[in-house]
Amino acid sequence: MFECLLQALLDLAQITMRRPIHARIDLAALRHNHAVARRHAGEVLLWSVIKANAYGHGVLEVAQGLRDVADGFALIEMEMAIHLREQGFNHPMLILEGYYRSNELPLFAEYQLTPVVHSEWQIDALIAARLPIRMPIYLKIDSGMHRLGIASYSLATCLKKLEISQAVGKVTLMTHFADADEPSGIAVQLARFKRITEGLSMPISICNSAALLRFPEALACGPLAANENWARPGIMLYGSSPFPSIKTAAELELKPVMTLRSEVIAVRDLRPGDGVGYGGNFVARSAMRIGVVACGYGDGYPRHAPTGTPILIGGKRTRTLGRVSMDKICVDLTELPSVGAGDTALMWGGDEEIGLLPADEVAAAAGTISYEMFCALASRVAVEVVN
Ligand SMILES: *Cc1c(COP(=O)(O)O)cnc(C)c1O
Repeated sequence: MFECLLQALLDLAQITMRRPIHARIDLAALRHNHAVARRHAGEVLLWSVIKANAYGHGVLEVAQGLRDVADGFALIEMEMAIHLREQGFNHPMLILEGYYRSNELPLFAEYQLTPVVHSEWQIDALIAARLPIRMPIYLKIDSGMHRLGIASYSLATCLKKLEISQAVGKVTLMTHFADADEPSGIAVQLARFKRITEGLSMPISICNSAALLRFPEALACGPLAANENWARPGIMLYGSSPFPSIKTAAELELKPVMTLRSEVIAVRDLRPGDGVGYGGNFVARSAMRIGVVACGYGDGYPRHAPTGTPILIGGKRTRTLGRVSMDKICVDLTELPSVGAGDTALMWGGDEEIGLLPADEVAAAAGTISYEMFCALASRVAVEVVN
């Protein structure tokens, strides 16, 4: 009773009882980025990669945002694919690590999920399962990353086994590049993939975001028509550059989907010699004015972001100071005298109106990649989905 009354009073006064930090997920930006991927892919079909809760953006919301434009969804988590099926998503669905145990196979058949088959034990399990359907599979080949995939010397045996057993339907040949975002590129792996798969008249799926944008000639380098093949863009859909040191997201015409904002909750003056935050590892050399922002590693902000990491306060660019705490970051306001408590802090994302701070720049300063920052967005941060 009392709680109801309290809530009613809070609602009346429009008090949210929430910290000012929140993430905005812009589905129009997501669709824009998908259209960019489409333009680069031409006729080649696109798996929208929505693993890891759509890179931290919220898998249901992202799938909903892409419902009308996605050719298919690729994810790691089978249970989420089943959940999407139950929510009425009839798209092709690719499960990127396939099944972990043979008792999952009937669910793949029932829910029409396409497994990636990367190991010989999976082939044996599939044959032994004697499913009522011929299962379409993605056969993952190791072309040099040496993580998952059938070794080149085992491929012929695997294909023979599958053919004799009649356990599979359409087989798509897949590989994954280790260096599509690196100076060395994909040449060695692509040549190896072509050599290994020579003479096999099957669709291919080999390009992640980096390869799609940098090496479009690889998209459909197999024997079939372009529209029989698939690419697997992930990070570009969320508006980050897969290779920020080569080309920025803006140069690739990508728009940020996640915007992480909070507010300055306190301002103080420092005298020369004053240390800031845990460990006091930033020390003011002269008089300074600093702000405290309600955002920390407990919200997903990278703890290793050092002094000097870019941040926008009141729309103006400045830098963080000292160690990131669980709930707070200190920022330099010395050159921003008009900014005070209650002003907006933009950790990453943004738009023309509130200013832009690419997640890639923050990630570079913090020694990580925007993928990790997005995935780390904490559940205590309120999320608002727009457009
Ligand atoms: C995650 C993933 C992708 C997407 O990679 P991005 O770099 O985000 O484009 C593509 N293929 C596989 C196998 C993946 O696991």
